[in-house]
Amino acid sequence: MNEERFIDYLGENEEEKIINLSLRPRTLGEFIGQKNVISSLEIAIEAARRRADALEHILLAGPPGLGKTSLAYCIAHQMDAKLTNTSGPAIERAGDLVGILTNLEKGDILFIDEIHRLSKVVEEFLYPAMENFHIDFVIDKGPYAKTVKFNLKPFTLIGATTRKGLLSAPLRGRFGIFFDFDFYAPQELSLVVQRSAQLLEVQIDERSCLEIASRSRGSPRLCNRLLKRVRDYAQVRAEGVINREIARQALDQIKIDSQGLDEMDRRYLRTIIHLHQGGPVGIEAIAASLNEDRGTLEDVIEPYLLKKGFIVRSPRGRVVTEGSYQHLNIPYPHQAQEKLF
Ligand code: ADP
Repeated sequence: MNEERFIDYLGENEEEKIINLSLRPRTLGEFIGQKNVISSLEIAIEAARRRADALEHILLAGPPGLGKTSLAYCIAHQMDAKLTNTSGPAIERAGDLVGILTNLEKGDILFIDEIHRLSKVVEEFLYPAMENFHIDFVIDKGPYAKTVKFNLKPFTLIGATTRKGLLSAPLRGRFGIFFDFDFYAPQELSLVVQRSAQLLEVQIDERSCLEIASRSRGSPRLCNRLLKRVRDYAQVRAEGVINREIARQALDQIKIDSQGLDEMDRRYLRTIIHLHQGGPVGIEAIAASLNEDRGTLEDVIEPYLLKKGFIVRSPRGRVVTEGSYQHLNIPYPHQAQEKLF
């Protein structure tokens, strides 16, 4: 797996983490887009506040970089609650959770990113904590082993996942509120660019914001990243002035095309077209041809290509659509039409 690519979509390097912390929306009012999610959430929060109750457990699902973590922090802010941030892979043993859970105050939020990656044992340990706010912890081993029951204060678990389908039914069933994040429209992302530009003190006009937004694969994280690349380019090539032409040149230089696809997206499409006759082809075969991890293709590459109609999923595998051929300037073999059905 190309390491840089992995960082590109799934995470942030250290410098970026610091910048992104400053760009993260802090309140629900600052949170751009996902209107349906926000309005349902406002009602749930208001209802919980009136009852002086903890909010129900919330599951946030959707591709990386769409604002799940940011929203969890906004919810905590709105509830005046403390948020403890951890992730599925970071909790190796049930014991790791004891300290975290027993330190939560009433109404506090425990945010578990990549919750689909919790081990079975840890997951089962969480069930009573989520359901009845208690945990049974076994101390010592063999004949001296005894179970100690801890009562917890009512807290809210916010789980985030890029793979809702991988969550077990019992875990899913313990959440009360579910939100699916969708890719952002270019107009919404344009507002994200404007906001970030202001915070980073970058001068940029509206048309350039929209140019960056429309090439950001529907993702605010990518949007912020592209803004920084355009800012750097403008500093070196245009005395810091960003206009639409400079934005275009900067994005062309890093090979983000007019549809927001990058090298990896195009490689994925070309592989299906050239090596698998346009499909249908199974995900394992594509992953092997690309020498990529199947999970990354499913989590990161495919959702946007599906959304944009560059590929479809048929019962026999992935098929590249006519739109992809046109976008890549490859003649479309018309018998390929039949493969879609
Ligand atoms: P996820 O948890 O889904 O991977 P994050 O919450 O880490 O995504 O979002 C990545 C970055 O994108 C954040 O640091 C923030 O700067 C920006 N961002 C995400 N959602 C929004 C939004 N709705 N409005 C403004 N900026 C956003």
